[in-house]
Amino acid sequence: MKCWSLVIVLMFMMLLATAIAGPNARKCKKERSLALNACKSVMYGRLPSSYCCQRVRVTHAKCICPVITAKLVALVNVDLLTKLITGCGRKVPRRFKCGMRRWQASFQRECGWVFKKDDTYSDRFQSKETWQILRASLPTWDSHRGIWFSVATPKFAFMTWLAAKNRLATGERMECWNINVHIGCSFCAEPRETREHLFFDCLYSRKIWEALVEGLMGSEFTWEWTNILNQISRDARIDMSLFIVRYAFQDTIHSIWIERNRRRHGEKPITNTILVRMINVMVRNRLSTMRRNGVKKYEDGIRIWFGTRRLSKRL
Ligand SMILES: [Zn+2]
Repeated sequence: MKCWSLVIVLMFMMLLATAIAGPNARKCKKERSLALNACKSVMYGRLPSSYCCQRVRVTHAKCICPVITAKLVALVNVDLLTKLITGCGRKVPRRFKCGMRRWQASFQRECGWVFKKDDTYSDRFQSKETWQILRASLPTWDSHRGIWFSVATPKFAFMTWLAAKNRLATGERMECWNINVHIGCSFCAEPRETREHLFFDCLYSRKIWEALVEGLMGSEFTWEWTNILNQISRDARIDMSLFIVRYAFQDTIHSIWIERNRRRHGEKPITNTILVRMINVMVRNRLSTMRRNGVKKYEDGIRIWFGTRRLSKRL
């Protein structure tokens, strides 16, 4: 019985060896022989020697699995076997398939790598489910639709995304980092510059937004930041008018922020009238480029833009 136990223990210790590129039958026989001789002392109740552990680590599972039978597995002390194997520093192959399932499950739990969900164990690791368990879930942010859309200009979209997340270095946010910094609006006498003030409570930026898209948005026109984001993000399907509003919105955010920074650094101010003309040209150029590139659904862009510009208020 002791002899049987020794054989079984040795076989199972070798089961943990990696078997990516297995050896041939002759080499397998040699590996089994080396492992058996190296680990003889285990039969007398001793801990495995360093050489025994070395053989456990390097012996290929492919050499061992074919000689494992259900009868042998039934004779093994699973707990003792698990301690011996882990004590040798043996890494567990992923999706290890060798021997009886009862032994596999016990060993996997001992090693702590098996995936557990709802008090049940899975025989495979699932990175997606693990991430869902680890992370703190937040409500879905739908405004991404109004910001990240095809044919947008990346620098405009990025600036708008920062603004939507309230990550622009406005006076309100800079105050948190340095209490001595100037936090007032660069366009008017407002003592505290916030995102909402810049876009578009401030009289300077309000007139720009109004001059650009009031005619295009009609009764849905608004200056309120949250309402604008909702307006441009509500539809997953984009038509020409919605595209122009989105694009003009991003262009306006970018232009006002650049002008704001220029003024903070002492450069010559640009009036909102000139800024409207600059944004108008940029939108027009974008629409012209898209038409030249043959994007069929955007063919009417220039016509719609010119048509609604006549309805917008002039500064
Ligand atoms: Zn202002």
